[in-house]
Amino acid sequence: MEIIQPKLFVVSAPSGAGKTTIIHRAIGVVPELVLSVSHTSRRPREGEIDGSDYFFVDADDFTRKIENKEFLEWAEVHGNFYGTSVKEINKRIENGETVILDIDVQGAQQVRKNEEIKAVYIFIEPPSMDELKNRLANRGTESEESLQKRLKNAKHELTFKNQYDFVIVNDQLDSAVEEFVRIITRSFSA
Ligand code: ADP
Ligand code: 5GP
Repeated sequence: MEIIQPKLFVVSAPSGAGKTTIIHRAIGVVPELVLSVSHTSRRPREGEIDGSDYFFVDADDFTRKIENKEFLEWAEVHGNFYGTSVKEINKRIENGETVILDIDVQGAQQVRKNEEIKAVYIFIEPPSMDELKNRLANRGTESEESLQKRLKNAKHELTFKNQYDFVIVNDQLDSAVEEFVRIITRSFSA
């Protein structure tokens, strides 16, 4: 498999830290940026659009795609499968786009091991576990069981932050977005 050398940004965070919010705000100010659309076996949340937020597939389809080696990386996260399709990412890179991969810590490790891929790794951290819990609860998208699973996993995910090139604490949203955009635009000129 050959991945053409991209400007690639790998972004991970515990669920609810604000990664999606920051990425969407950054895309609003840096027009070259695109977010890679992952495949997932998770059910769509209210308002999520197939092909835009995720490609929503069932677990059997996902397993077939693993067997067909369609994923650059994939992982089971909070009880569902998530993966980045090689086809999807190559299409974007061939278009000359700068791609953000919003993937979990396991997926980031897989990409890091792939010597053909050079990327900048960014970890978004919540200011505290209490605030993380508030954000997840206020988002109103998770069942109590899913919320507890995500909080439990957050503690483990935070232990990976030192493997990233940059760690952004998302306390004040505007400052976190500014820092994120600064990291990205700085590496354009590197
Ligand atoms: P993630 O993609 O990391 O799971 P989201 O971007 O969905 O997280 O953010 C989780 C919730 O927290 C959302 O309701 C979002 O509006 C809110 N949020 C994000 N950043 C902040 C912040 N800096 N301060 C307060 N609330 C925030
Ligand atoms: P959510 O269900 O909240 O959309 O996402 C849950 C977690 O799955 C997040 O940590 C997100 O970064 C991760 N995720 C989303 N897409 C992918 C992917 O393609 N690969 C991997 N490894 N993780 C992903």
